[in-house]
Amino acid sequence: MNLILLGPPGAGKGTQAQRLVEARGMVQLSTGDMLREAMTTGTEVGRRAKPIYDAGELVPDEIVVDLISERLESLAPCQGFILDGVPRNAAQADAVDRMLRQKKLALDIVIELQVDDDFLVERVTGRFTCARCGAGYHERFRRPKVEGVCDACGSTEFERRSDDNEEVMRARLEVYHDQTEPLRDYYRTAGTLRTVNGRADPDEVARQIELMLEDA
Ligand code: AMP
Repeated sequence: MNLILLGPPGAGKGTQAQRLVEARGMVQLSTGDMLREAMTTGTEVGRRAKPIYDAGELVPDEIVVDLISERLESLAPCQGFILDGVPRNAAQADAVDRMLRQKKLALDIVIELQVDDDFLVERVTGRFTCARCGAGYHERFRRPKVEGVCDACGSTEFERRSDDNEEVMRARLEVYHDQTEPLRDYYRTAGTLRTVNGRADPDEVARQIELMLEDA
């Protein structure tokens, strides 16, 4: 089973992808994670991407297409994958189609997580993660049980993404509505699009996604 998770920043694509990794042994291919890793390690790609990432704009298509292509190469046969955060515009959607055709891989389903903008801004500007294990928290909706201590690993170090502030988030949403949202029609026409309410509780969203995958 191979799928794309489509949706605005903060819609829960990463959270749901992680759940699919755990529940189904799928591989998560997140271009955002790949770019953050490249920036942290200071590669050439990371240096090129940084100012664009920090402004909430899209990094050049060839960078993300190369990143995805490399990872698809190294997948074991029959290992299902989740494209998380890619494609983000029509050119990337074409490139992904071409790549999958070349590698004889199917795209079974595209799941769109729908959430309205104001909720997304609140969700994204309040989120933070454990610096050691990556467990996710939110200032209002999900604080650690013991203040300042990670529930999962006990670490007291937390971090926030540099682009999770209101100004950059508004720019990211504009880019989403302008360039990514039109892909809905592209995948609707292809017959692969399903939509889920991304404002629901993450367990409920995961349940809906599971039903959609069973049906695909
Ligand atoms: P994300 O973690 O998916 O929210 O992505 C964070 C940022 O990484 C975006 O605002 C873009 O600057 C960049 N990025 C991630 N994926 C892509 C992509 N497919 N195309 C272009 N830029 C991307």
